[in-house]
Amino acid sequence: MSTETTAAPPEPSDFIRDIVAADLAAGKYAQVVTRFPPEPNGYLHIGHAKAICLNFGIAREFGGVCHLRMDDTNPTKEEVEYVDSITTDVRWLIGGWADEFLRFKKKGDIDACEILATDPEAEPFYASDYFQKIYDYAVELIRAGKAYVCDLSPEETDRYRGGPDRPGIPSPFRDRPIEESLDLFARMKAGEFPNGARTLRAKIDMEAPNVWLRDPLLYRIRHAEHHHTGNAWCIYPMYDFAHCLSDSVEAVSHSICTLEFEVHRPLYDWILGSLPVPQPPPRQYEFARLSLTYTIMSKRKLMQLVKEGVVSAWDDPRMPTISGMRRRGVTPEALRHFAYNIGVTKYNGLTDVAVLEHAIRSDLNSRAQRRLAVLRPLKVVITNYPEGQVEELDATNNPEDPSTGTRKIPFSRELYIESDDFMEVPAPKYFRLRPGGEVRLKYAYIIKCEEIVKDDAGNIVELRCTADLDSKTGGANSGRKIKGTIHWVSAQHAIEAEVRLYDRLFTHAEPDGDGRDFLQFINPNSLSVVSARLEPSLLNAAPADRFQFERLGYFCLDSRDTAVFNRTITLRDNWAK
Ligand code: ATP
Ligand code: MG
Repeated sequence: MSTETTAAPPEPSDFIRDIVAADLAAGKYAQVVTRFPPEPNGYLHIGHAKAICLNFGIAREFGGVCHLRMDDTNPTKEEVEYVDSITTDVRWLIGGWADEFLRFKKKGDIDACEILATDPEAEPFYASDYFQKIYDYAVELIRAGKAYVCDLSPEETDRYRGGPDRPGIPSPFRDRPIEESLDLFARMKAGEFPNGARTLRAKIDMEAPNVWLRDPLLYRIRHAEHHHTGNAWCIYPMYDFAHCLSDSVEAVSHSICTLEFEVHRPLYDWILGSLPVPQPPPRQYEFARLSLTYTIMSKRKLMQLVKEGVVSAWDDPRMPTISGMRRRGVTPEALRHFAYNIGVTKYNGLTDVAVLEHAIRSDLNSRAQRRLAVLRPLKVVITNYPEGQVEELDATNNPEDPSTGTRKIPFSRELYIESDDFMEVPAPKYFRLRPGGEVRLKYAYIIKCEEIVKDDAGNIVELRCTADLDSKTGGANSGRKIKGTIHWVSAQHAIEAEVRLYDRLFTHAEPDGDGRDFLQFINPNSLSVVSARLEPSLLNAAPADRFQFERLGYFCLDSRDTAVFNRTITLRDNWAK
């Protein structure tokens, strides 16, 4: 039903795409293989969306493929729930755009042969599937004299490593005989030692200016059950060791990550250069991560919002998670346009959340059907309109897309209007309804407020109005100029529904910047719930539908609670000032 009226943007260009194009031209790789490697320790957020669009965009533009890989080397933080949500979110975000470039592997296949993600037996890649291969590589490093088992405690290891201003001190175990390291490493694997008792370290250079090259840890002991490998292992490879080797096993050509990994790149290259891995090896490239104003993006902090009950769940529509935005009504096209528009650079910066909001609005403007709804109802009685009469008036579905045509909306003697479309004592330049004033009801008549009815407490409970019965479309007075036009619903026909109105979750532009405690800056008005009256056609709404409630914003059905509508976003940026 929805149509995309905006033209597809031109193919992006940036320094990473330039490198990929040059590598292809030079015949360096038979095929471009990228990967998106989240750690399944939380839900994906809008920052991940940027990385997903980049990796899948490159696969799509250069005839390549992109692997979804769970980067799951830390058993204590990872869970199947996160694996499932990540898989769902990636498929949703690239759906209809890059599905055919998404590669999975066959369930249980630990040799990493890629298959189409649509294969019924497909599942994402897992770094943990390569634990045996990675272990075997570690043994080779020890044999080559390039790794050793170290008995320093975690605290001693830190202290010996030195800092950017101090050289490191070699571990007393650095020159331990190869045979001894091999034996100890096998016994680490066999579970003979407690957590933290020993590690496997690369033997590189304790005086290297880059601290990541000062005999970095390759393996640590963790007696913990792993979500994918169960109790098969009690030693786990570190990120730096597992990541480059996983890339190599999967024949990744361009391993794209965020800038904080730039200092790890020499280690990435050292590991692959020290082992007999297939050629050519993957190369790592770094780009600037997305940071957004009024948003936090660390999984750890997002988890805190869930655990402390600030939001209802990871997919709370106020969360900057992909699942939260989906539930709120944001479309994958809007997120992809946003990712395209912000581009890919090498410099960290802060993107105004208004850029994201603009992408969401312009996407919904083109696809959303217009409907009439009243969020805070005020009763209006048209005293000169016959009791019992009902007219079916024509309303435009989407002026941005004439092919969507019109629908009928019922008009009758008793209506609801928005309570703030009436002011008893009007402010200057207030052009909506006022005592003795006139306003046009959209698609219907011009009405005049004749009388205000109040309850004993002095609250306005009803307006008694008269209508100019010649003023509707086609009538003699249809061209009469009136400054204000407001929306309405017919009281007897309207359906009542809960509507959740969301606003930004934080009141501070950089809630966790400068060491700030983001919990101090929660917007107390980030959610308000109203009992609204909707035009009757909304009874048939489906969760996939997108609506503009005229003058109010964009709305959709909540996917969990389908009696509820969520406001995706207001029509205009209320924060601009
Ligand atoms: P967090 O700090 O939120 O836990 P992370 O970097 O640890 O994020 P991963 O699951 O390791 O999360 O990320 C998977 C991929 O997504 C990585 O390649 C990472 O570089 C990328 N990524 C994560 N956050 C962002 C971001 N804000 N902008 C762009 N890419 C990101
Ligand atoms: Mg990470």
